[in-house]
Amino acid sequence: MCATCGCSAPAVIRVFPDPDHHHHGHEDEHGHEDEHGHRPGGRTGRIVGSLANGGDQRTVQLQQKVLAKNDRLAGLNRDWLRQRGVLAVNLMSSPGAGKTTLLERTARELGDRVAISVIEGDQAAALDATRIRAAGCRVVQINTGAGCHLDAEMVAEGLRVLDPPSGSVVMIENVGNLVCPSLFDLGEQARVVLASVTEGDDKPLKYPHMFRRADLVLVSKTDLLPYVDFDSKRHAWDVRRTSPDALMLQLSAATGAGMHEWYAWLRRRTPAPHD
Ligand code: MG
Repeated sequence: MCATCGCSAPAVIRVFPDPDHHHHGHEDEHGHEDEHGHRPGGRTGRIVGSLANGGDQRTVQLQQKVLAKNDRLAGLNRDWLRQRGVLAVNLMSSPGAGKTTLLERTARELGDRVAISVIEGDQAAALDATRIRAAGCRVVQINTGAGCHLDAEMVAEGLRVLDPPSGSVVMIENVGNLVCPSLFDLGEQARVVLASVTEGDDKPLKYPHMFRRADLVLVSKTDLLPYVDFDSKRHAWDVRRTSPDALMLQLSAATGAGMHEWYAWLRRRTPAPHD
């Protein structure tokens, strides 16, 4: 749990809108900071959460308090998204599973039919936001500092900056981590877990919380199946046992295989624009 792993130590959210539009020098786009930890073009320094590592009882109580506050804010996000007519998708995986690559291809191939904007979560740097911006999407980068997951307050801030139009999709790329992101409701309407064939077929059994609440499990990097030890049948069986209601799709953002099913899934859930 976050209270004991240390990720709930005071975290600083830093939101960088449109990194390609706001940098005042080449350092900015590489995620460098000045000596005060500030970044040109970004708002900095908002302390969003603090959790003492006291006794176990106190830790549990604080954990419950943090999650209760998060759930309340997530509810507000969900109401806001519903009223606005915006689909928000919480995209989660381990680091390196291909979340950003999936979003780049999705933006390029679906972006002319569906307005897509992106909230990028990473502990540091704006590397992914720069890639997404280059793919033609509006994007904000949220740096969580020591935090290993996004929370509802961070997403509220990202939504405020993005101001997504009705009938659009906001993809929330969570911090790469198969543990803590599963605990935090962001107010999203759908949870998508990316499981790459390069990370092995044992993850649904080892990280059941992440898979249990998934609406969709995307098996990614399938173009690499001939080169890795990944038993697709075993993986599918374990996903099915862990998360009986989740839909499963296989795709490769490198070759484009399976991407149409993913686009169809997204479009089915995207609300019609308000008049
Ligand atoms: Mg990424």
